[in-house]
Amino acid sequence: MNTSEKLAILGGDKSVDVPKPHYVWPEITDRTREAVLKQLDSTISIYNKSDIFERFENNFAKYHGRKYALLHNSGTNAIWSMFVGCDLQPGDEVICPTYTFHATATLLLQTGATPIFVDAKEDGNIDPEKIRAAITKKTKAIIITHMWGIPCDMDEIVAIAKEAGVYLLEDCSHAHGAEYKGRKVGTFGDAAAWSLQGQKTVTGGEGGIVLTDNEEIHIRELLLGHYNKRCTQEIPKDHRLRQFALTGFGLKNRAHPLAIAIAQEQFERLDSILEFRRRYAEMMMNELGGFEEISLPNTKERLPSWYAFTIQYHEEKAGVKIEKFYQALQAEGLAEADRPGSTGPIHDLPLFQNRHIVYPHLYRQTETTSSEYPQAVNFWKKAIKFPVWHRPEDEGMTRDYIKGVKKVLTNLPSLKDNA
Ligand SMILES: *Cc1c(COP(=O)(O)O)cnc(C)c1O
Repeated sequence: MNTSEKLAILGGDKSVDVPKPHYVWPEITDRTREAVLKQLDSTISIYNKSDIFERFENNFAKYHGRKYALLHNSGTNAIWSMFVGCDLQPGDEVICPTYTFHATATLLLQTGATPIFVDAKEDGNIDPEKIRAAITKKTKAIIITHMWGIPCDMDEIVAIAKEAGVYLLEDCSHAHGAEYKGRKVGTFGDAAAWSLQGQKTVTGGEGGIVLTDNEEIHIRELLLGHYNKRCTQEIPKDHRLRQFALTGFGLKNRAHPLAIAIAQEQFERLDSILEFRRRYAEMMMNELGGFEEISLPNTKERLPSWYAFTIQYHEEKAGVKIEKFYQALQAEGLAEADRPGSTGPIHDLPLFQNRHIVYPHLYRQTETTSSEYPQAVNFWKKAIKFPVWHRPEDEGMTRDYIKGVKKVLTNLPSLKDNA
């Protein structure tokens, strides 16, 4: 690397000089179009486990080696169904990461249970030691998120949940196909949910799915939002909740068959997508490994799904503010570099702090808690994410982005003078 190369922000040549977007997701191909057309000729409303729902649920369950699968119209509602599956009640405590997308925990508030937020580790994922410290007699469940597709510390977390005798739920919405010590995420806990929303690695545009081996959880998930035919089909006649089969618990959270036809076509490409993402992520890991100004994603004993490649930028080591670093990346033409703003610590969101205003029948005004979440806040403030490409023809773009990041890191001193 020529260290005297002039940064684009200071008038030098750009590292990437092609128009954006540089990354397009999801990938809609002729096969996707065919899948939708075929579904139109089959059915566009499915009442029970049949047709494309049955195919997708069976394939997804088999891929993970789990017994029960249930599609939903969103990941958010899929997560909600896990909370109802665990029969959460007012007074129950549920341990949640504060560094996650808010939908990991928002629908807890529909159950009346109390979210107990827990800090992250340096890798952005929930800290097992902080989970252990947060367990009380009231703890009923732990929910975790494998952030940006990096699996959490599952050995420790599974052991803590077992010891405490509480449910373990996984939000795998960033982590389709990710593995921890050779085992897929979504197979460690009592139930797991995946979003199938447009950004996600397996997508139908909108949608969600839950897997579990626990029949009781599955039955309650069915009742929450899949009334009549599906409940009648799957809830045993002698089950105490079978009386509710006709109405369920009143909601309707069924997926749309066209969305699931798309998701099935995308799912068939998951292993190929992961293979390329892993190849390109490894290039990024190898090439960017030598810089003390940044930390790279945690890949120790884990195979991420690379929903994003999220680095930590240490401005105190760099001597250049993150805003300036980020502007320099943008100026290099790295248009897809992003500082994730809305996915940040969630404990102080108004919906959690002022839940008594929205749900006065379930919550009283909460005393302002003095808990602090320094690691989660830190990770969020220092995070810069890059896409990880997934096609053979994306190798050049991956190399150009690596070149651009290296150029800015190598030339940080020139930004200091300019600061
Ligand atoms: C996308 C996402 C959700 C919500 O999924 P939707 O399908 O958009 O409702 C929940 N948790 C995480 C971590 C997500 O990324």
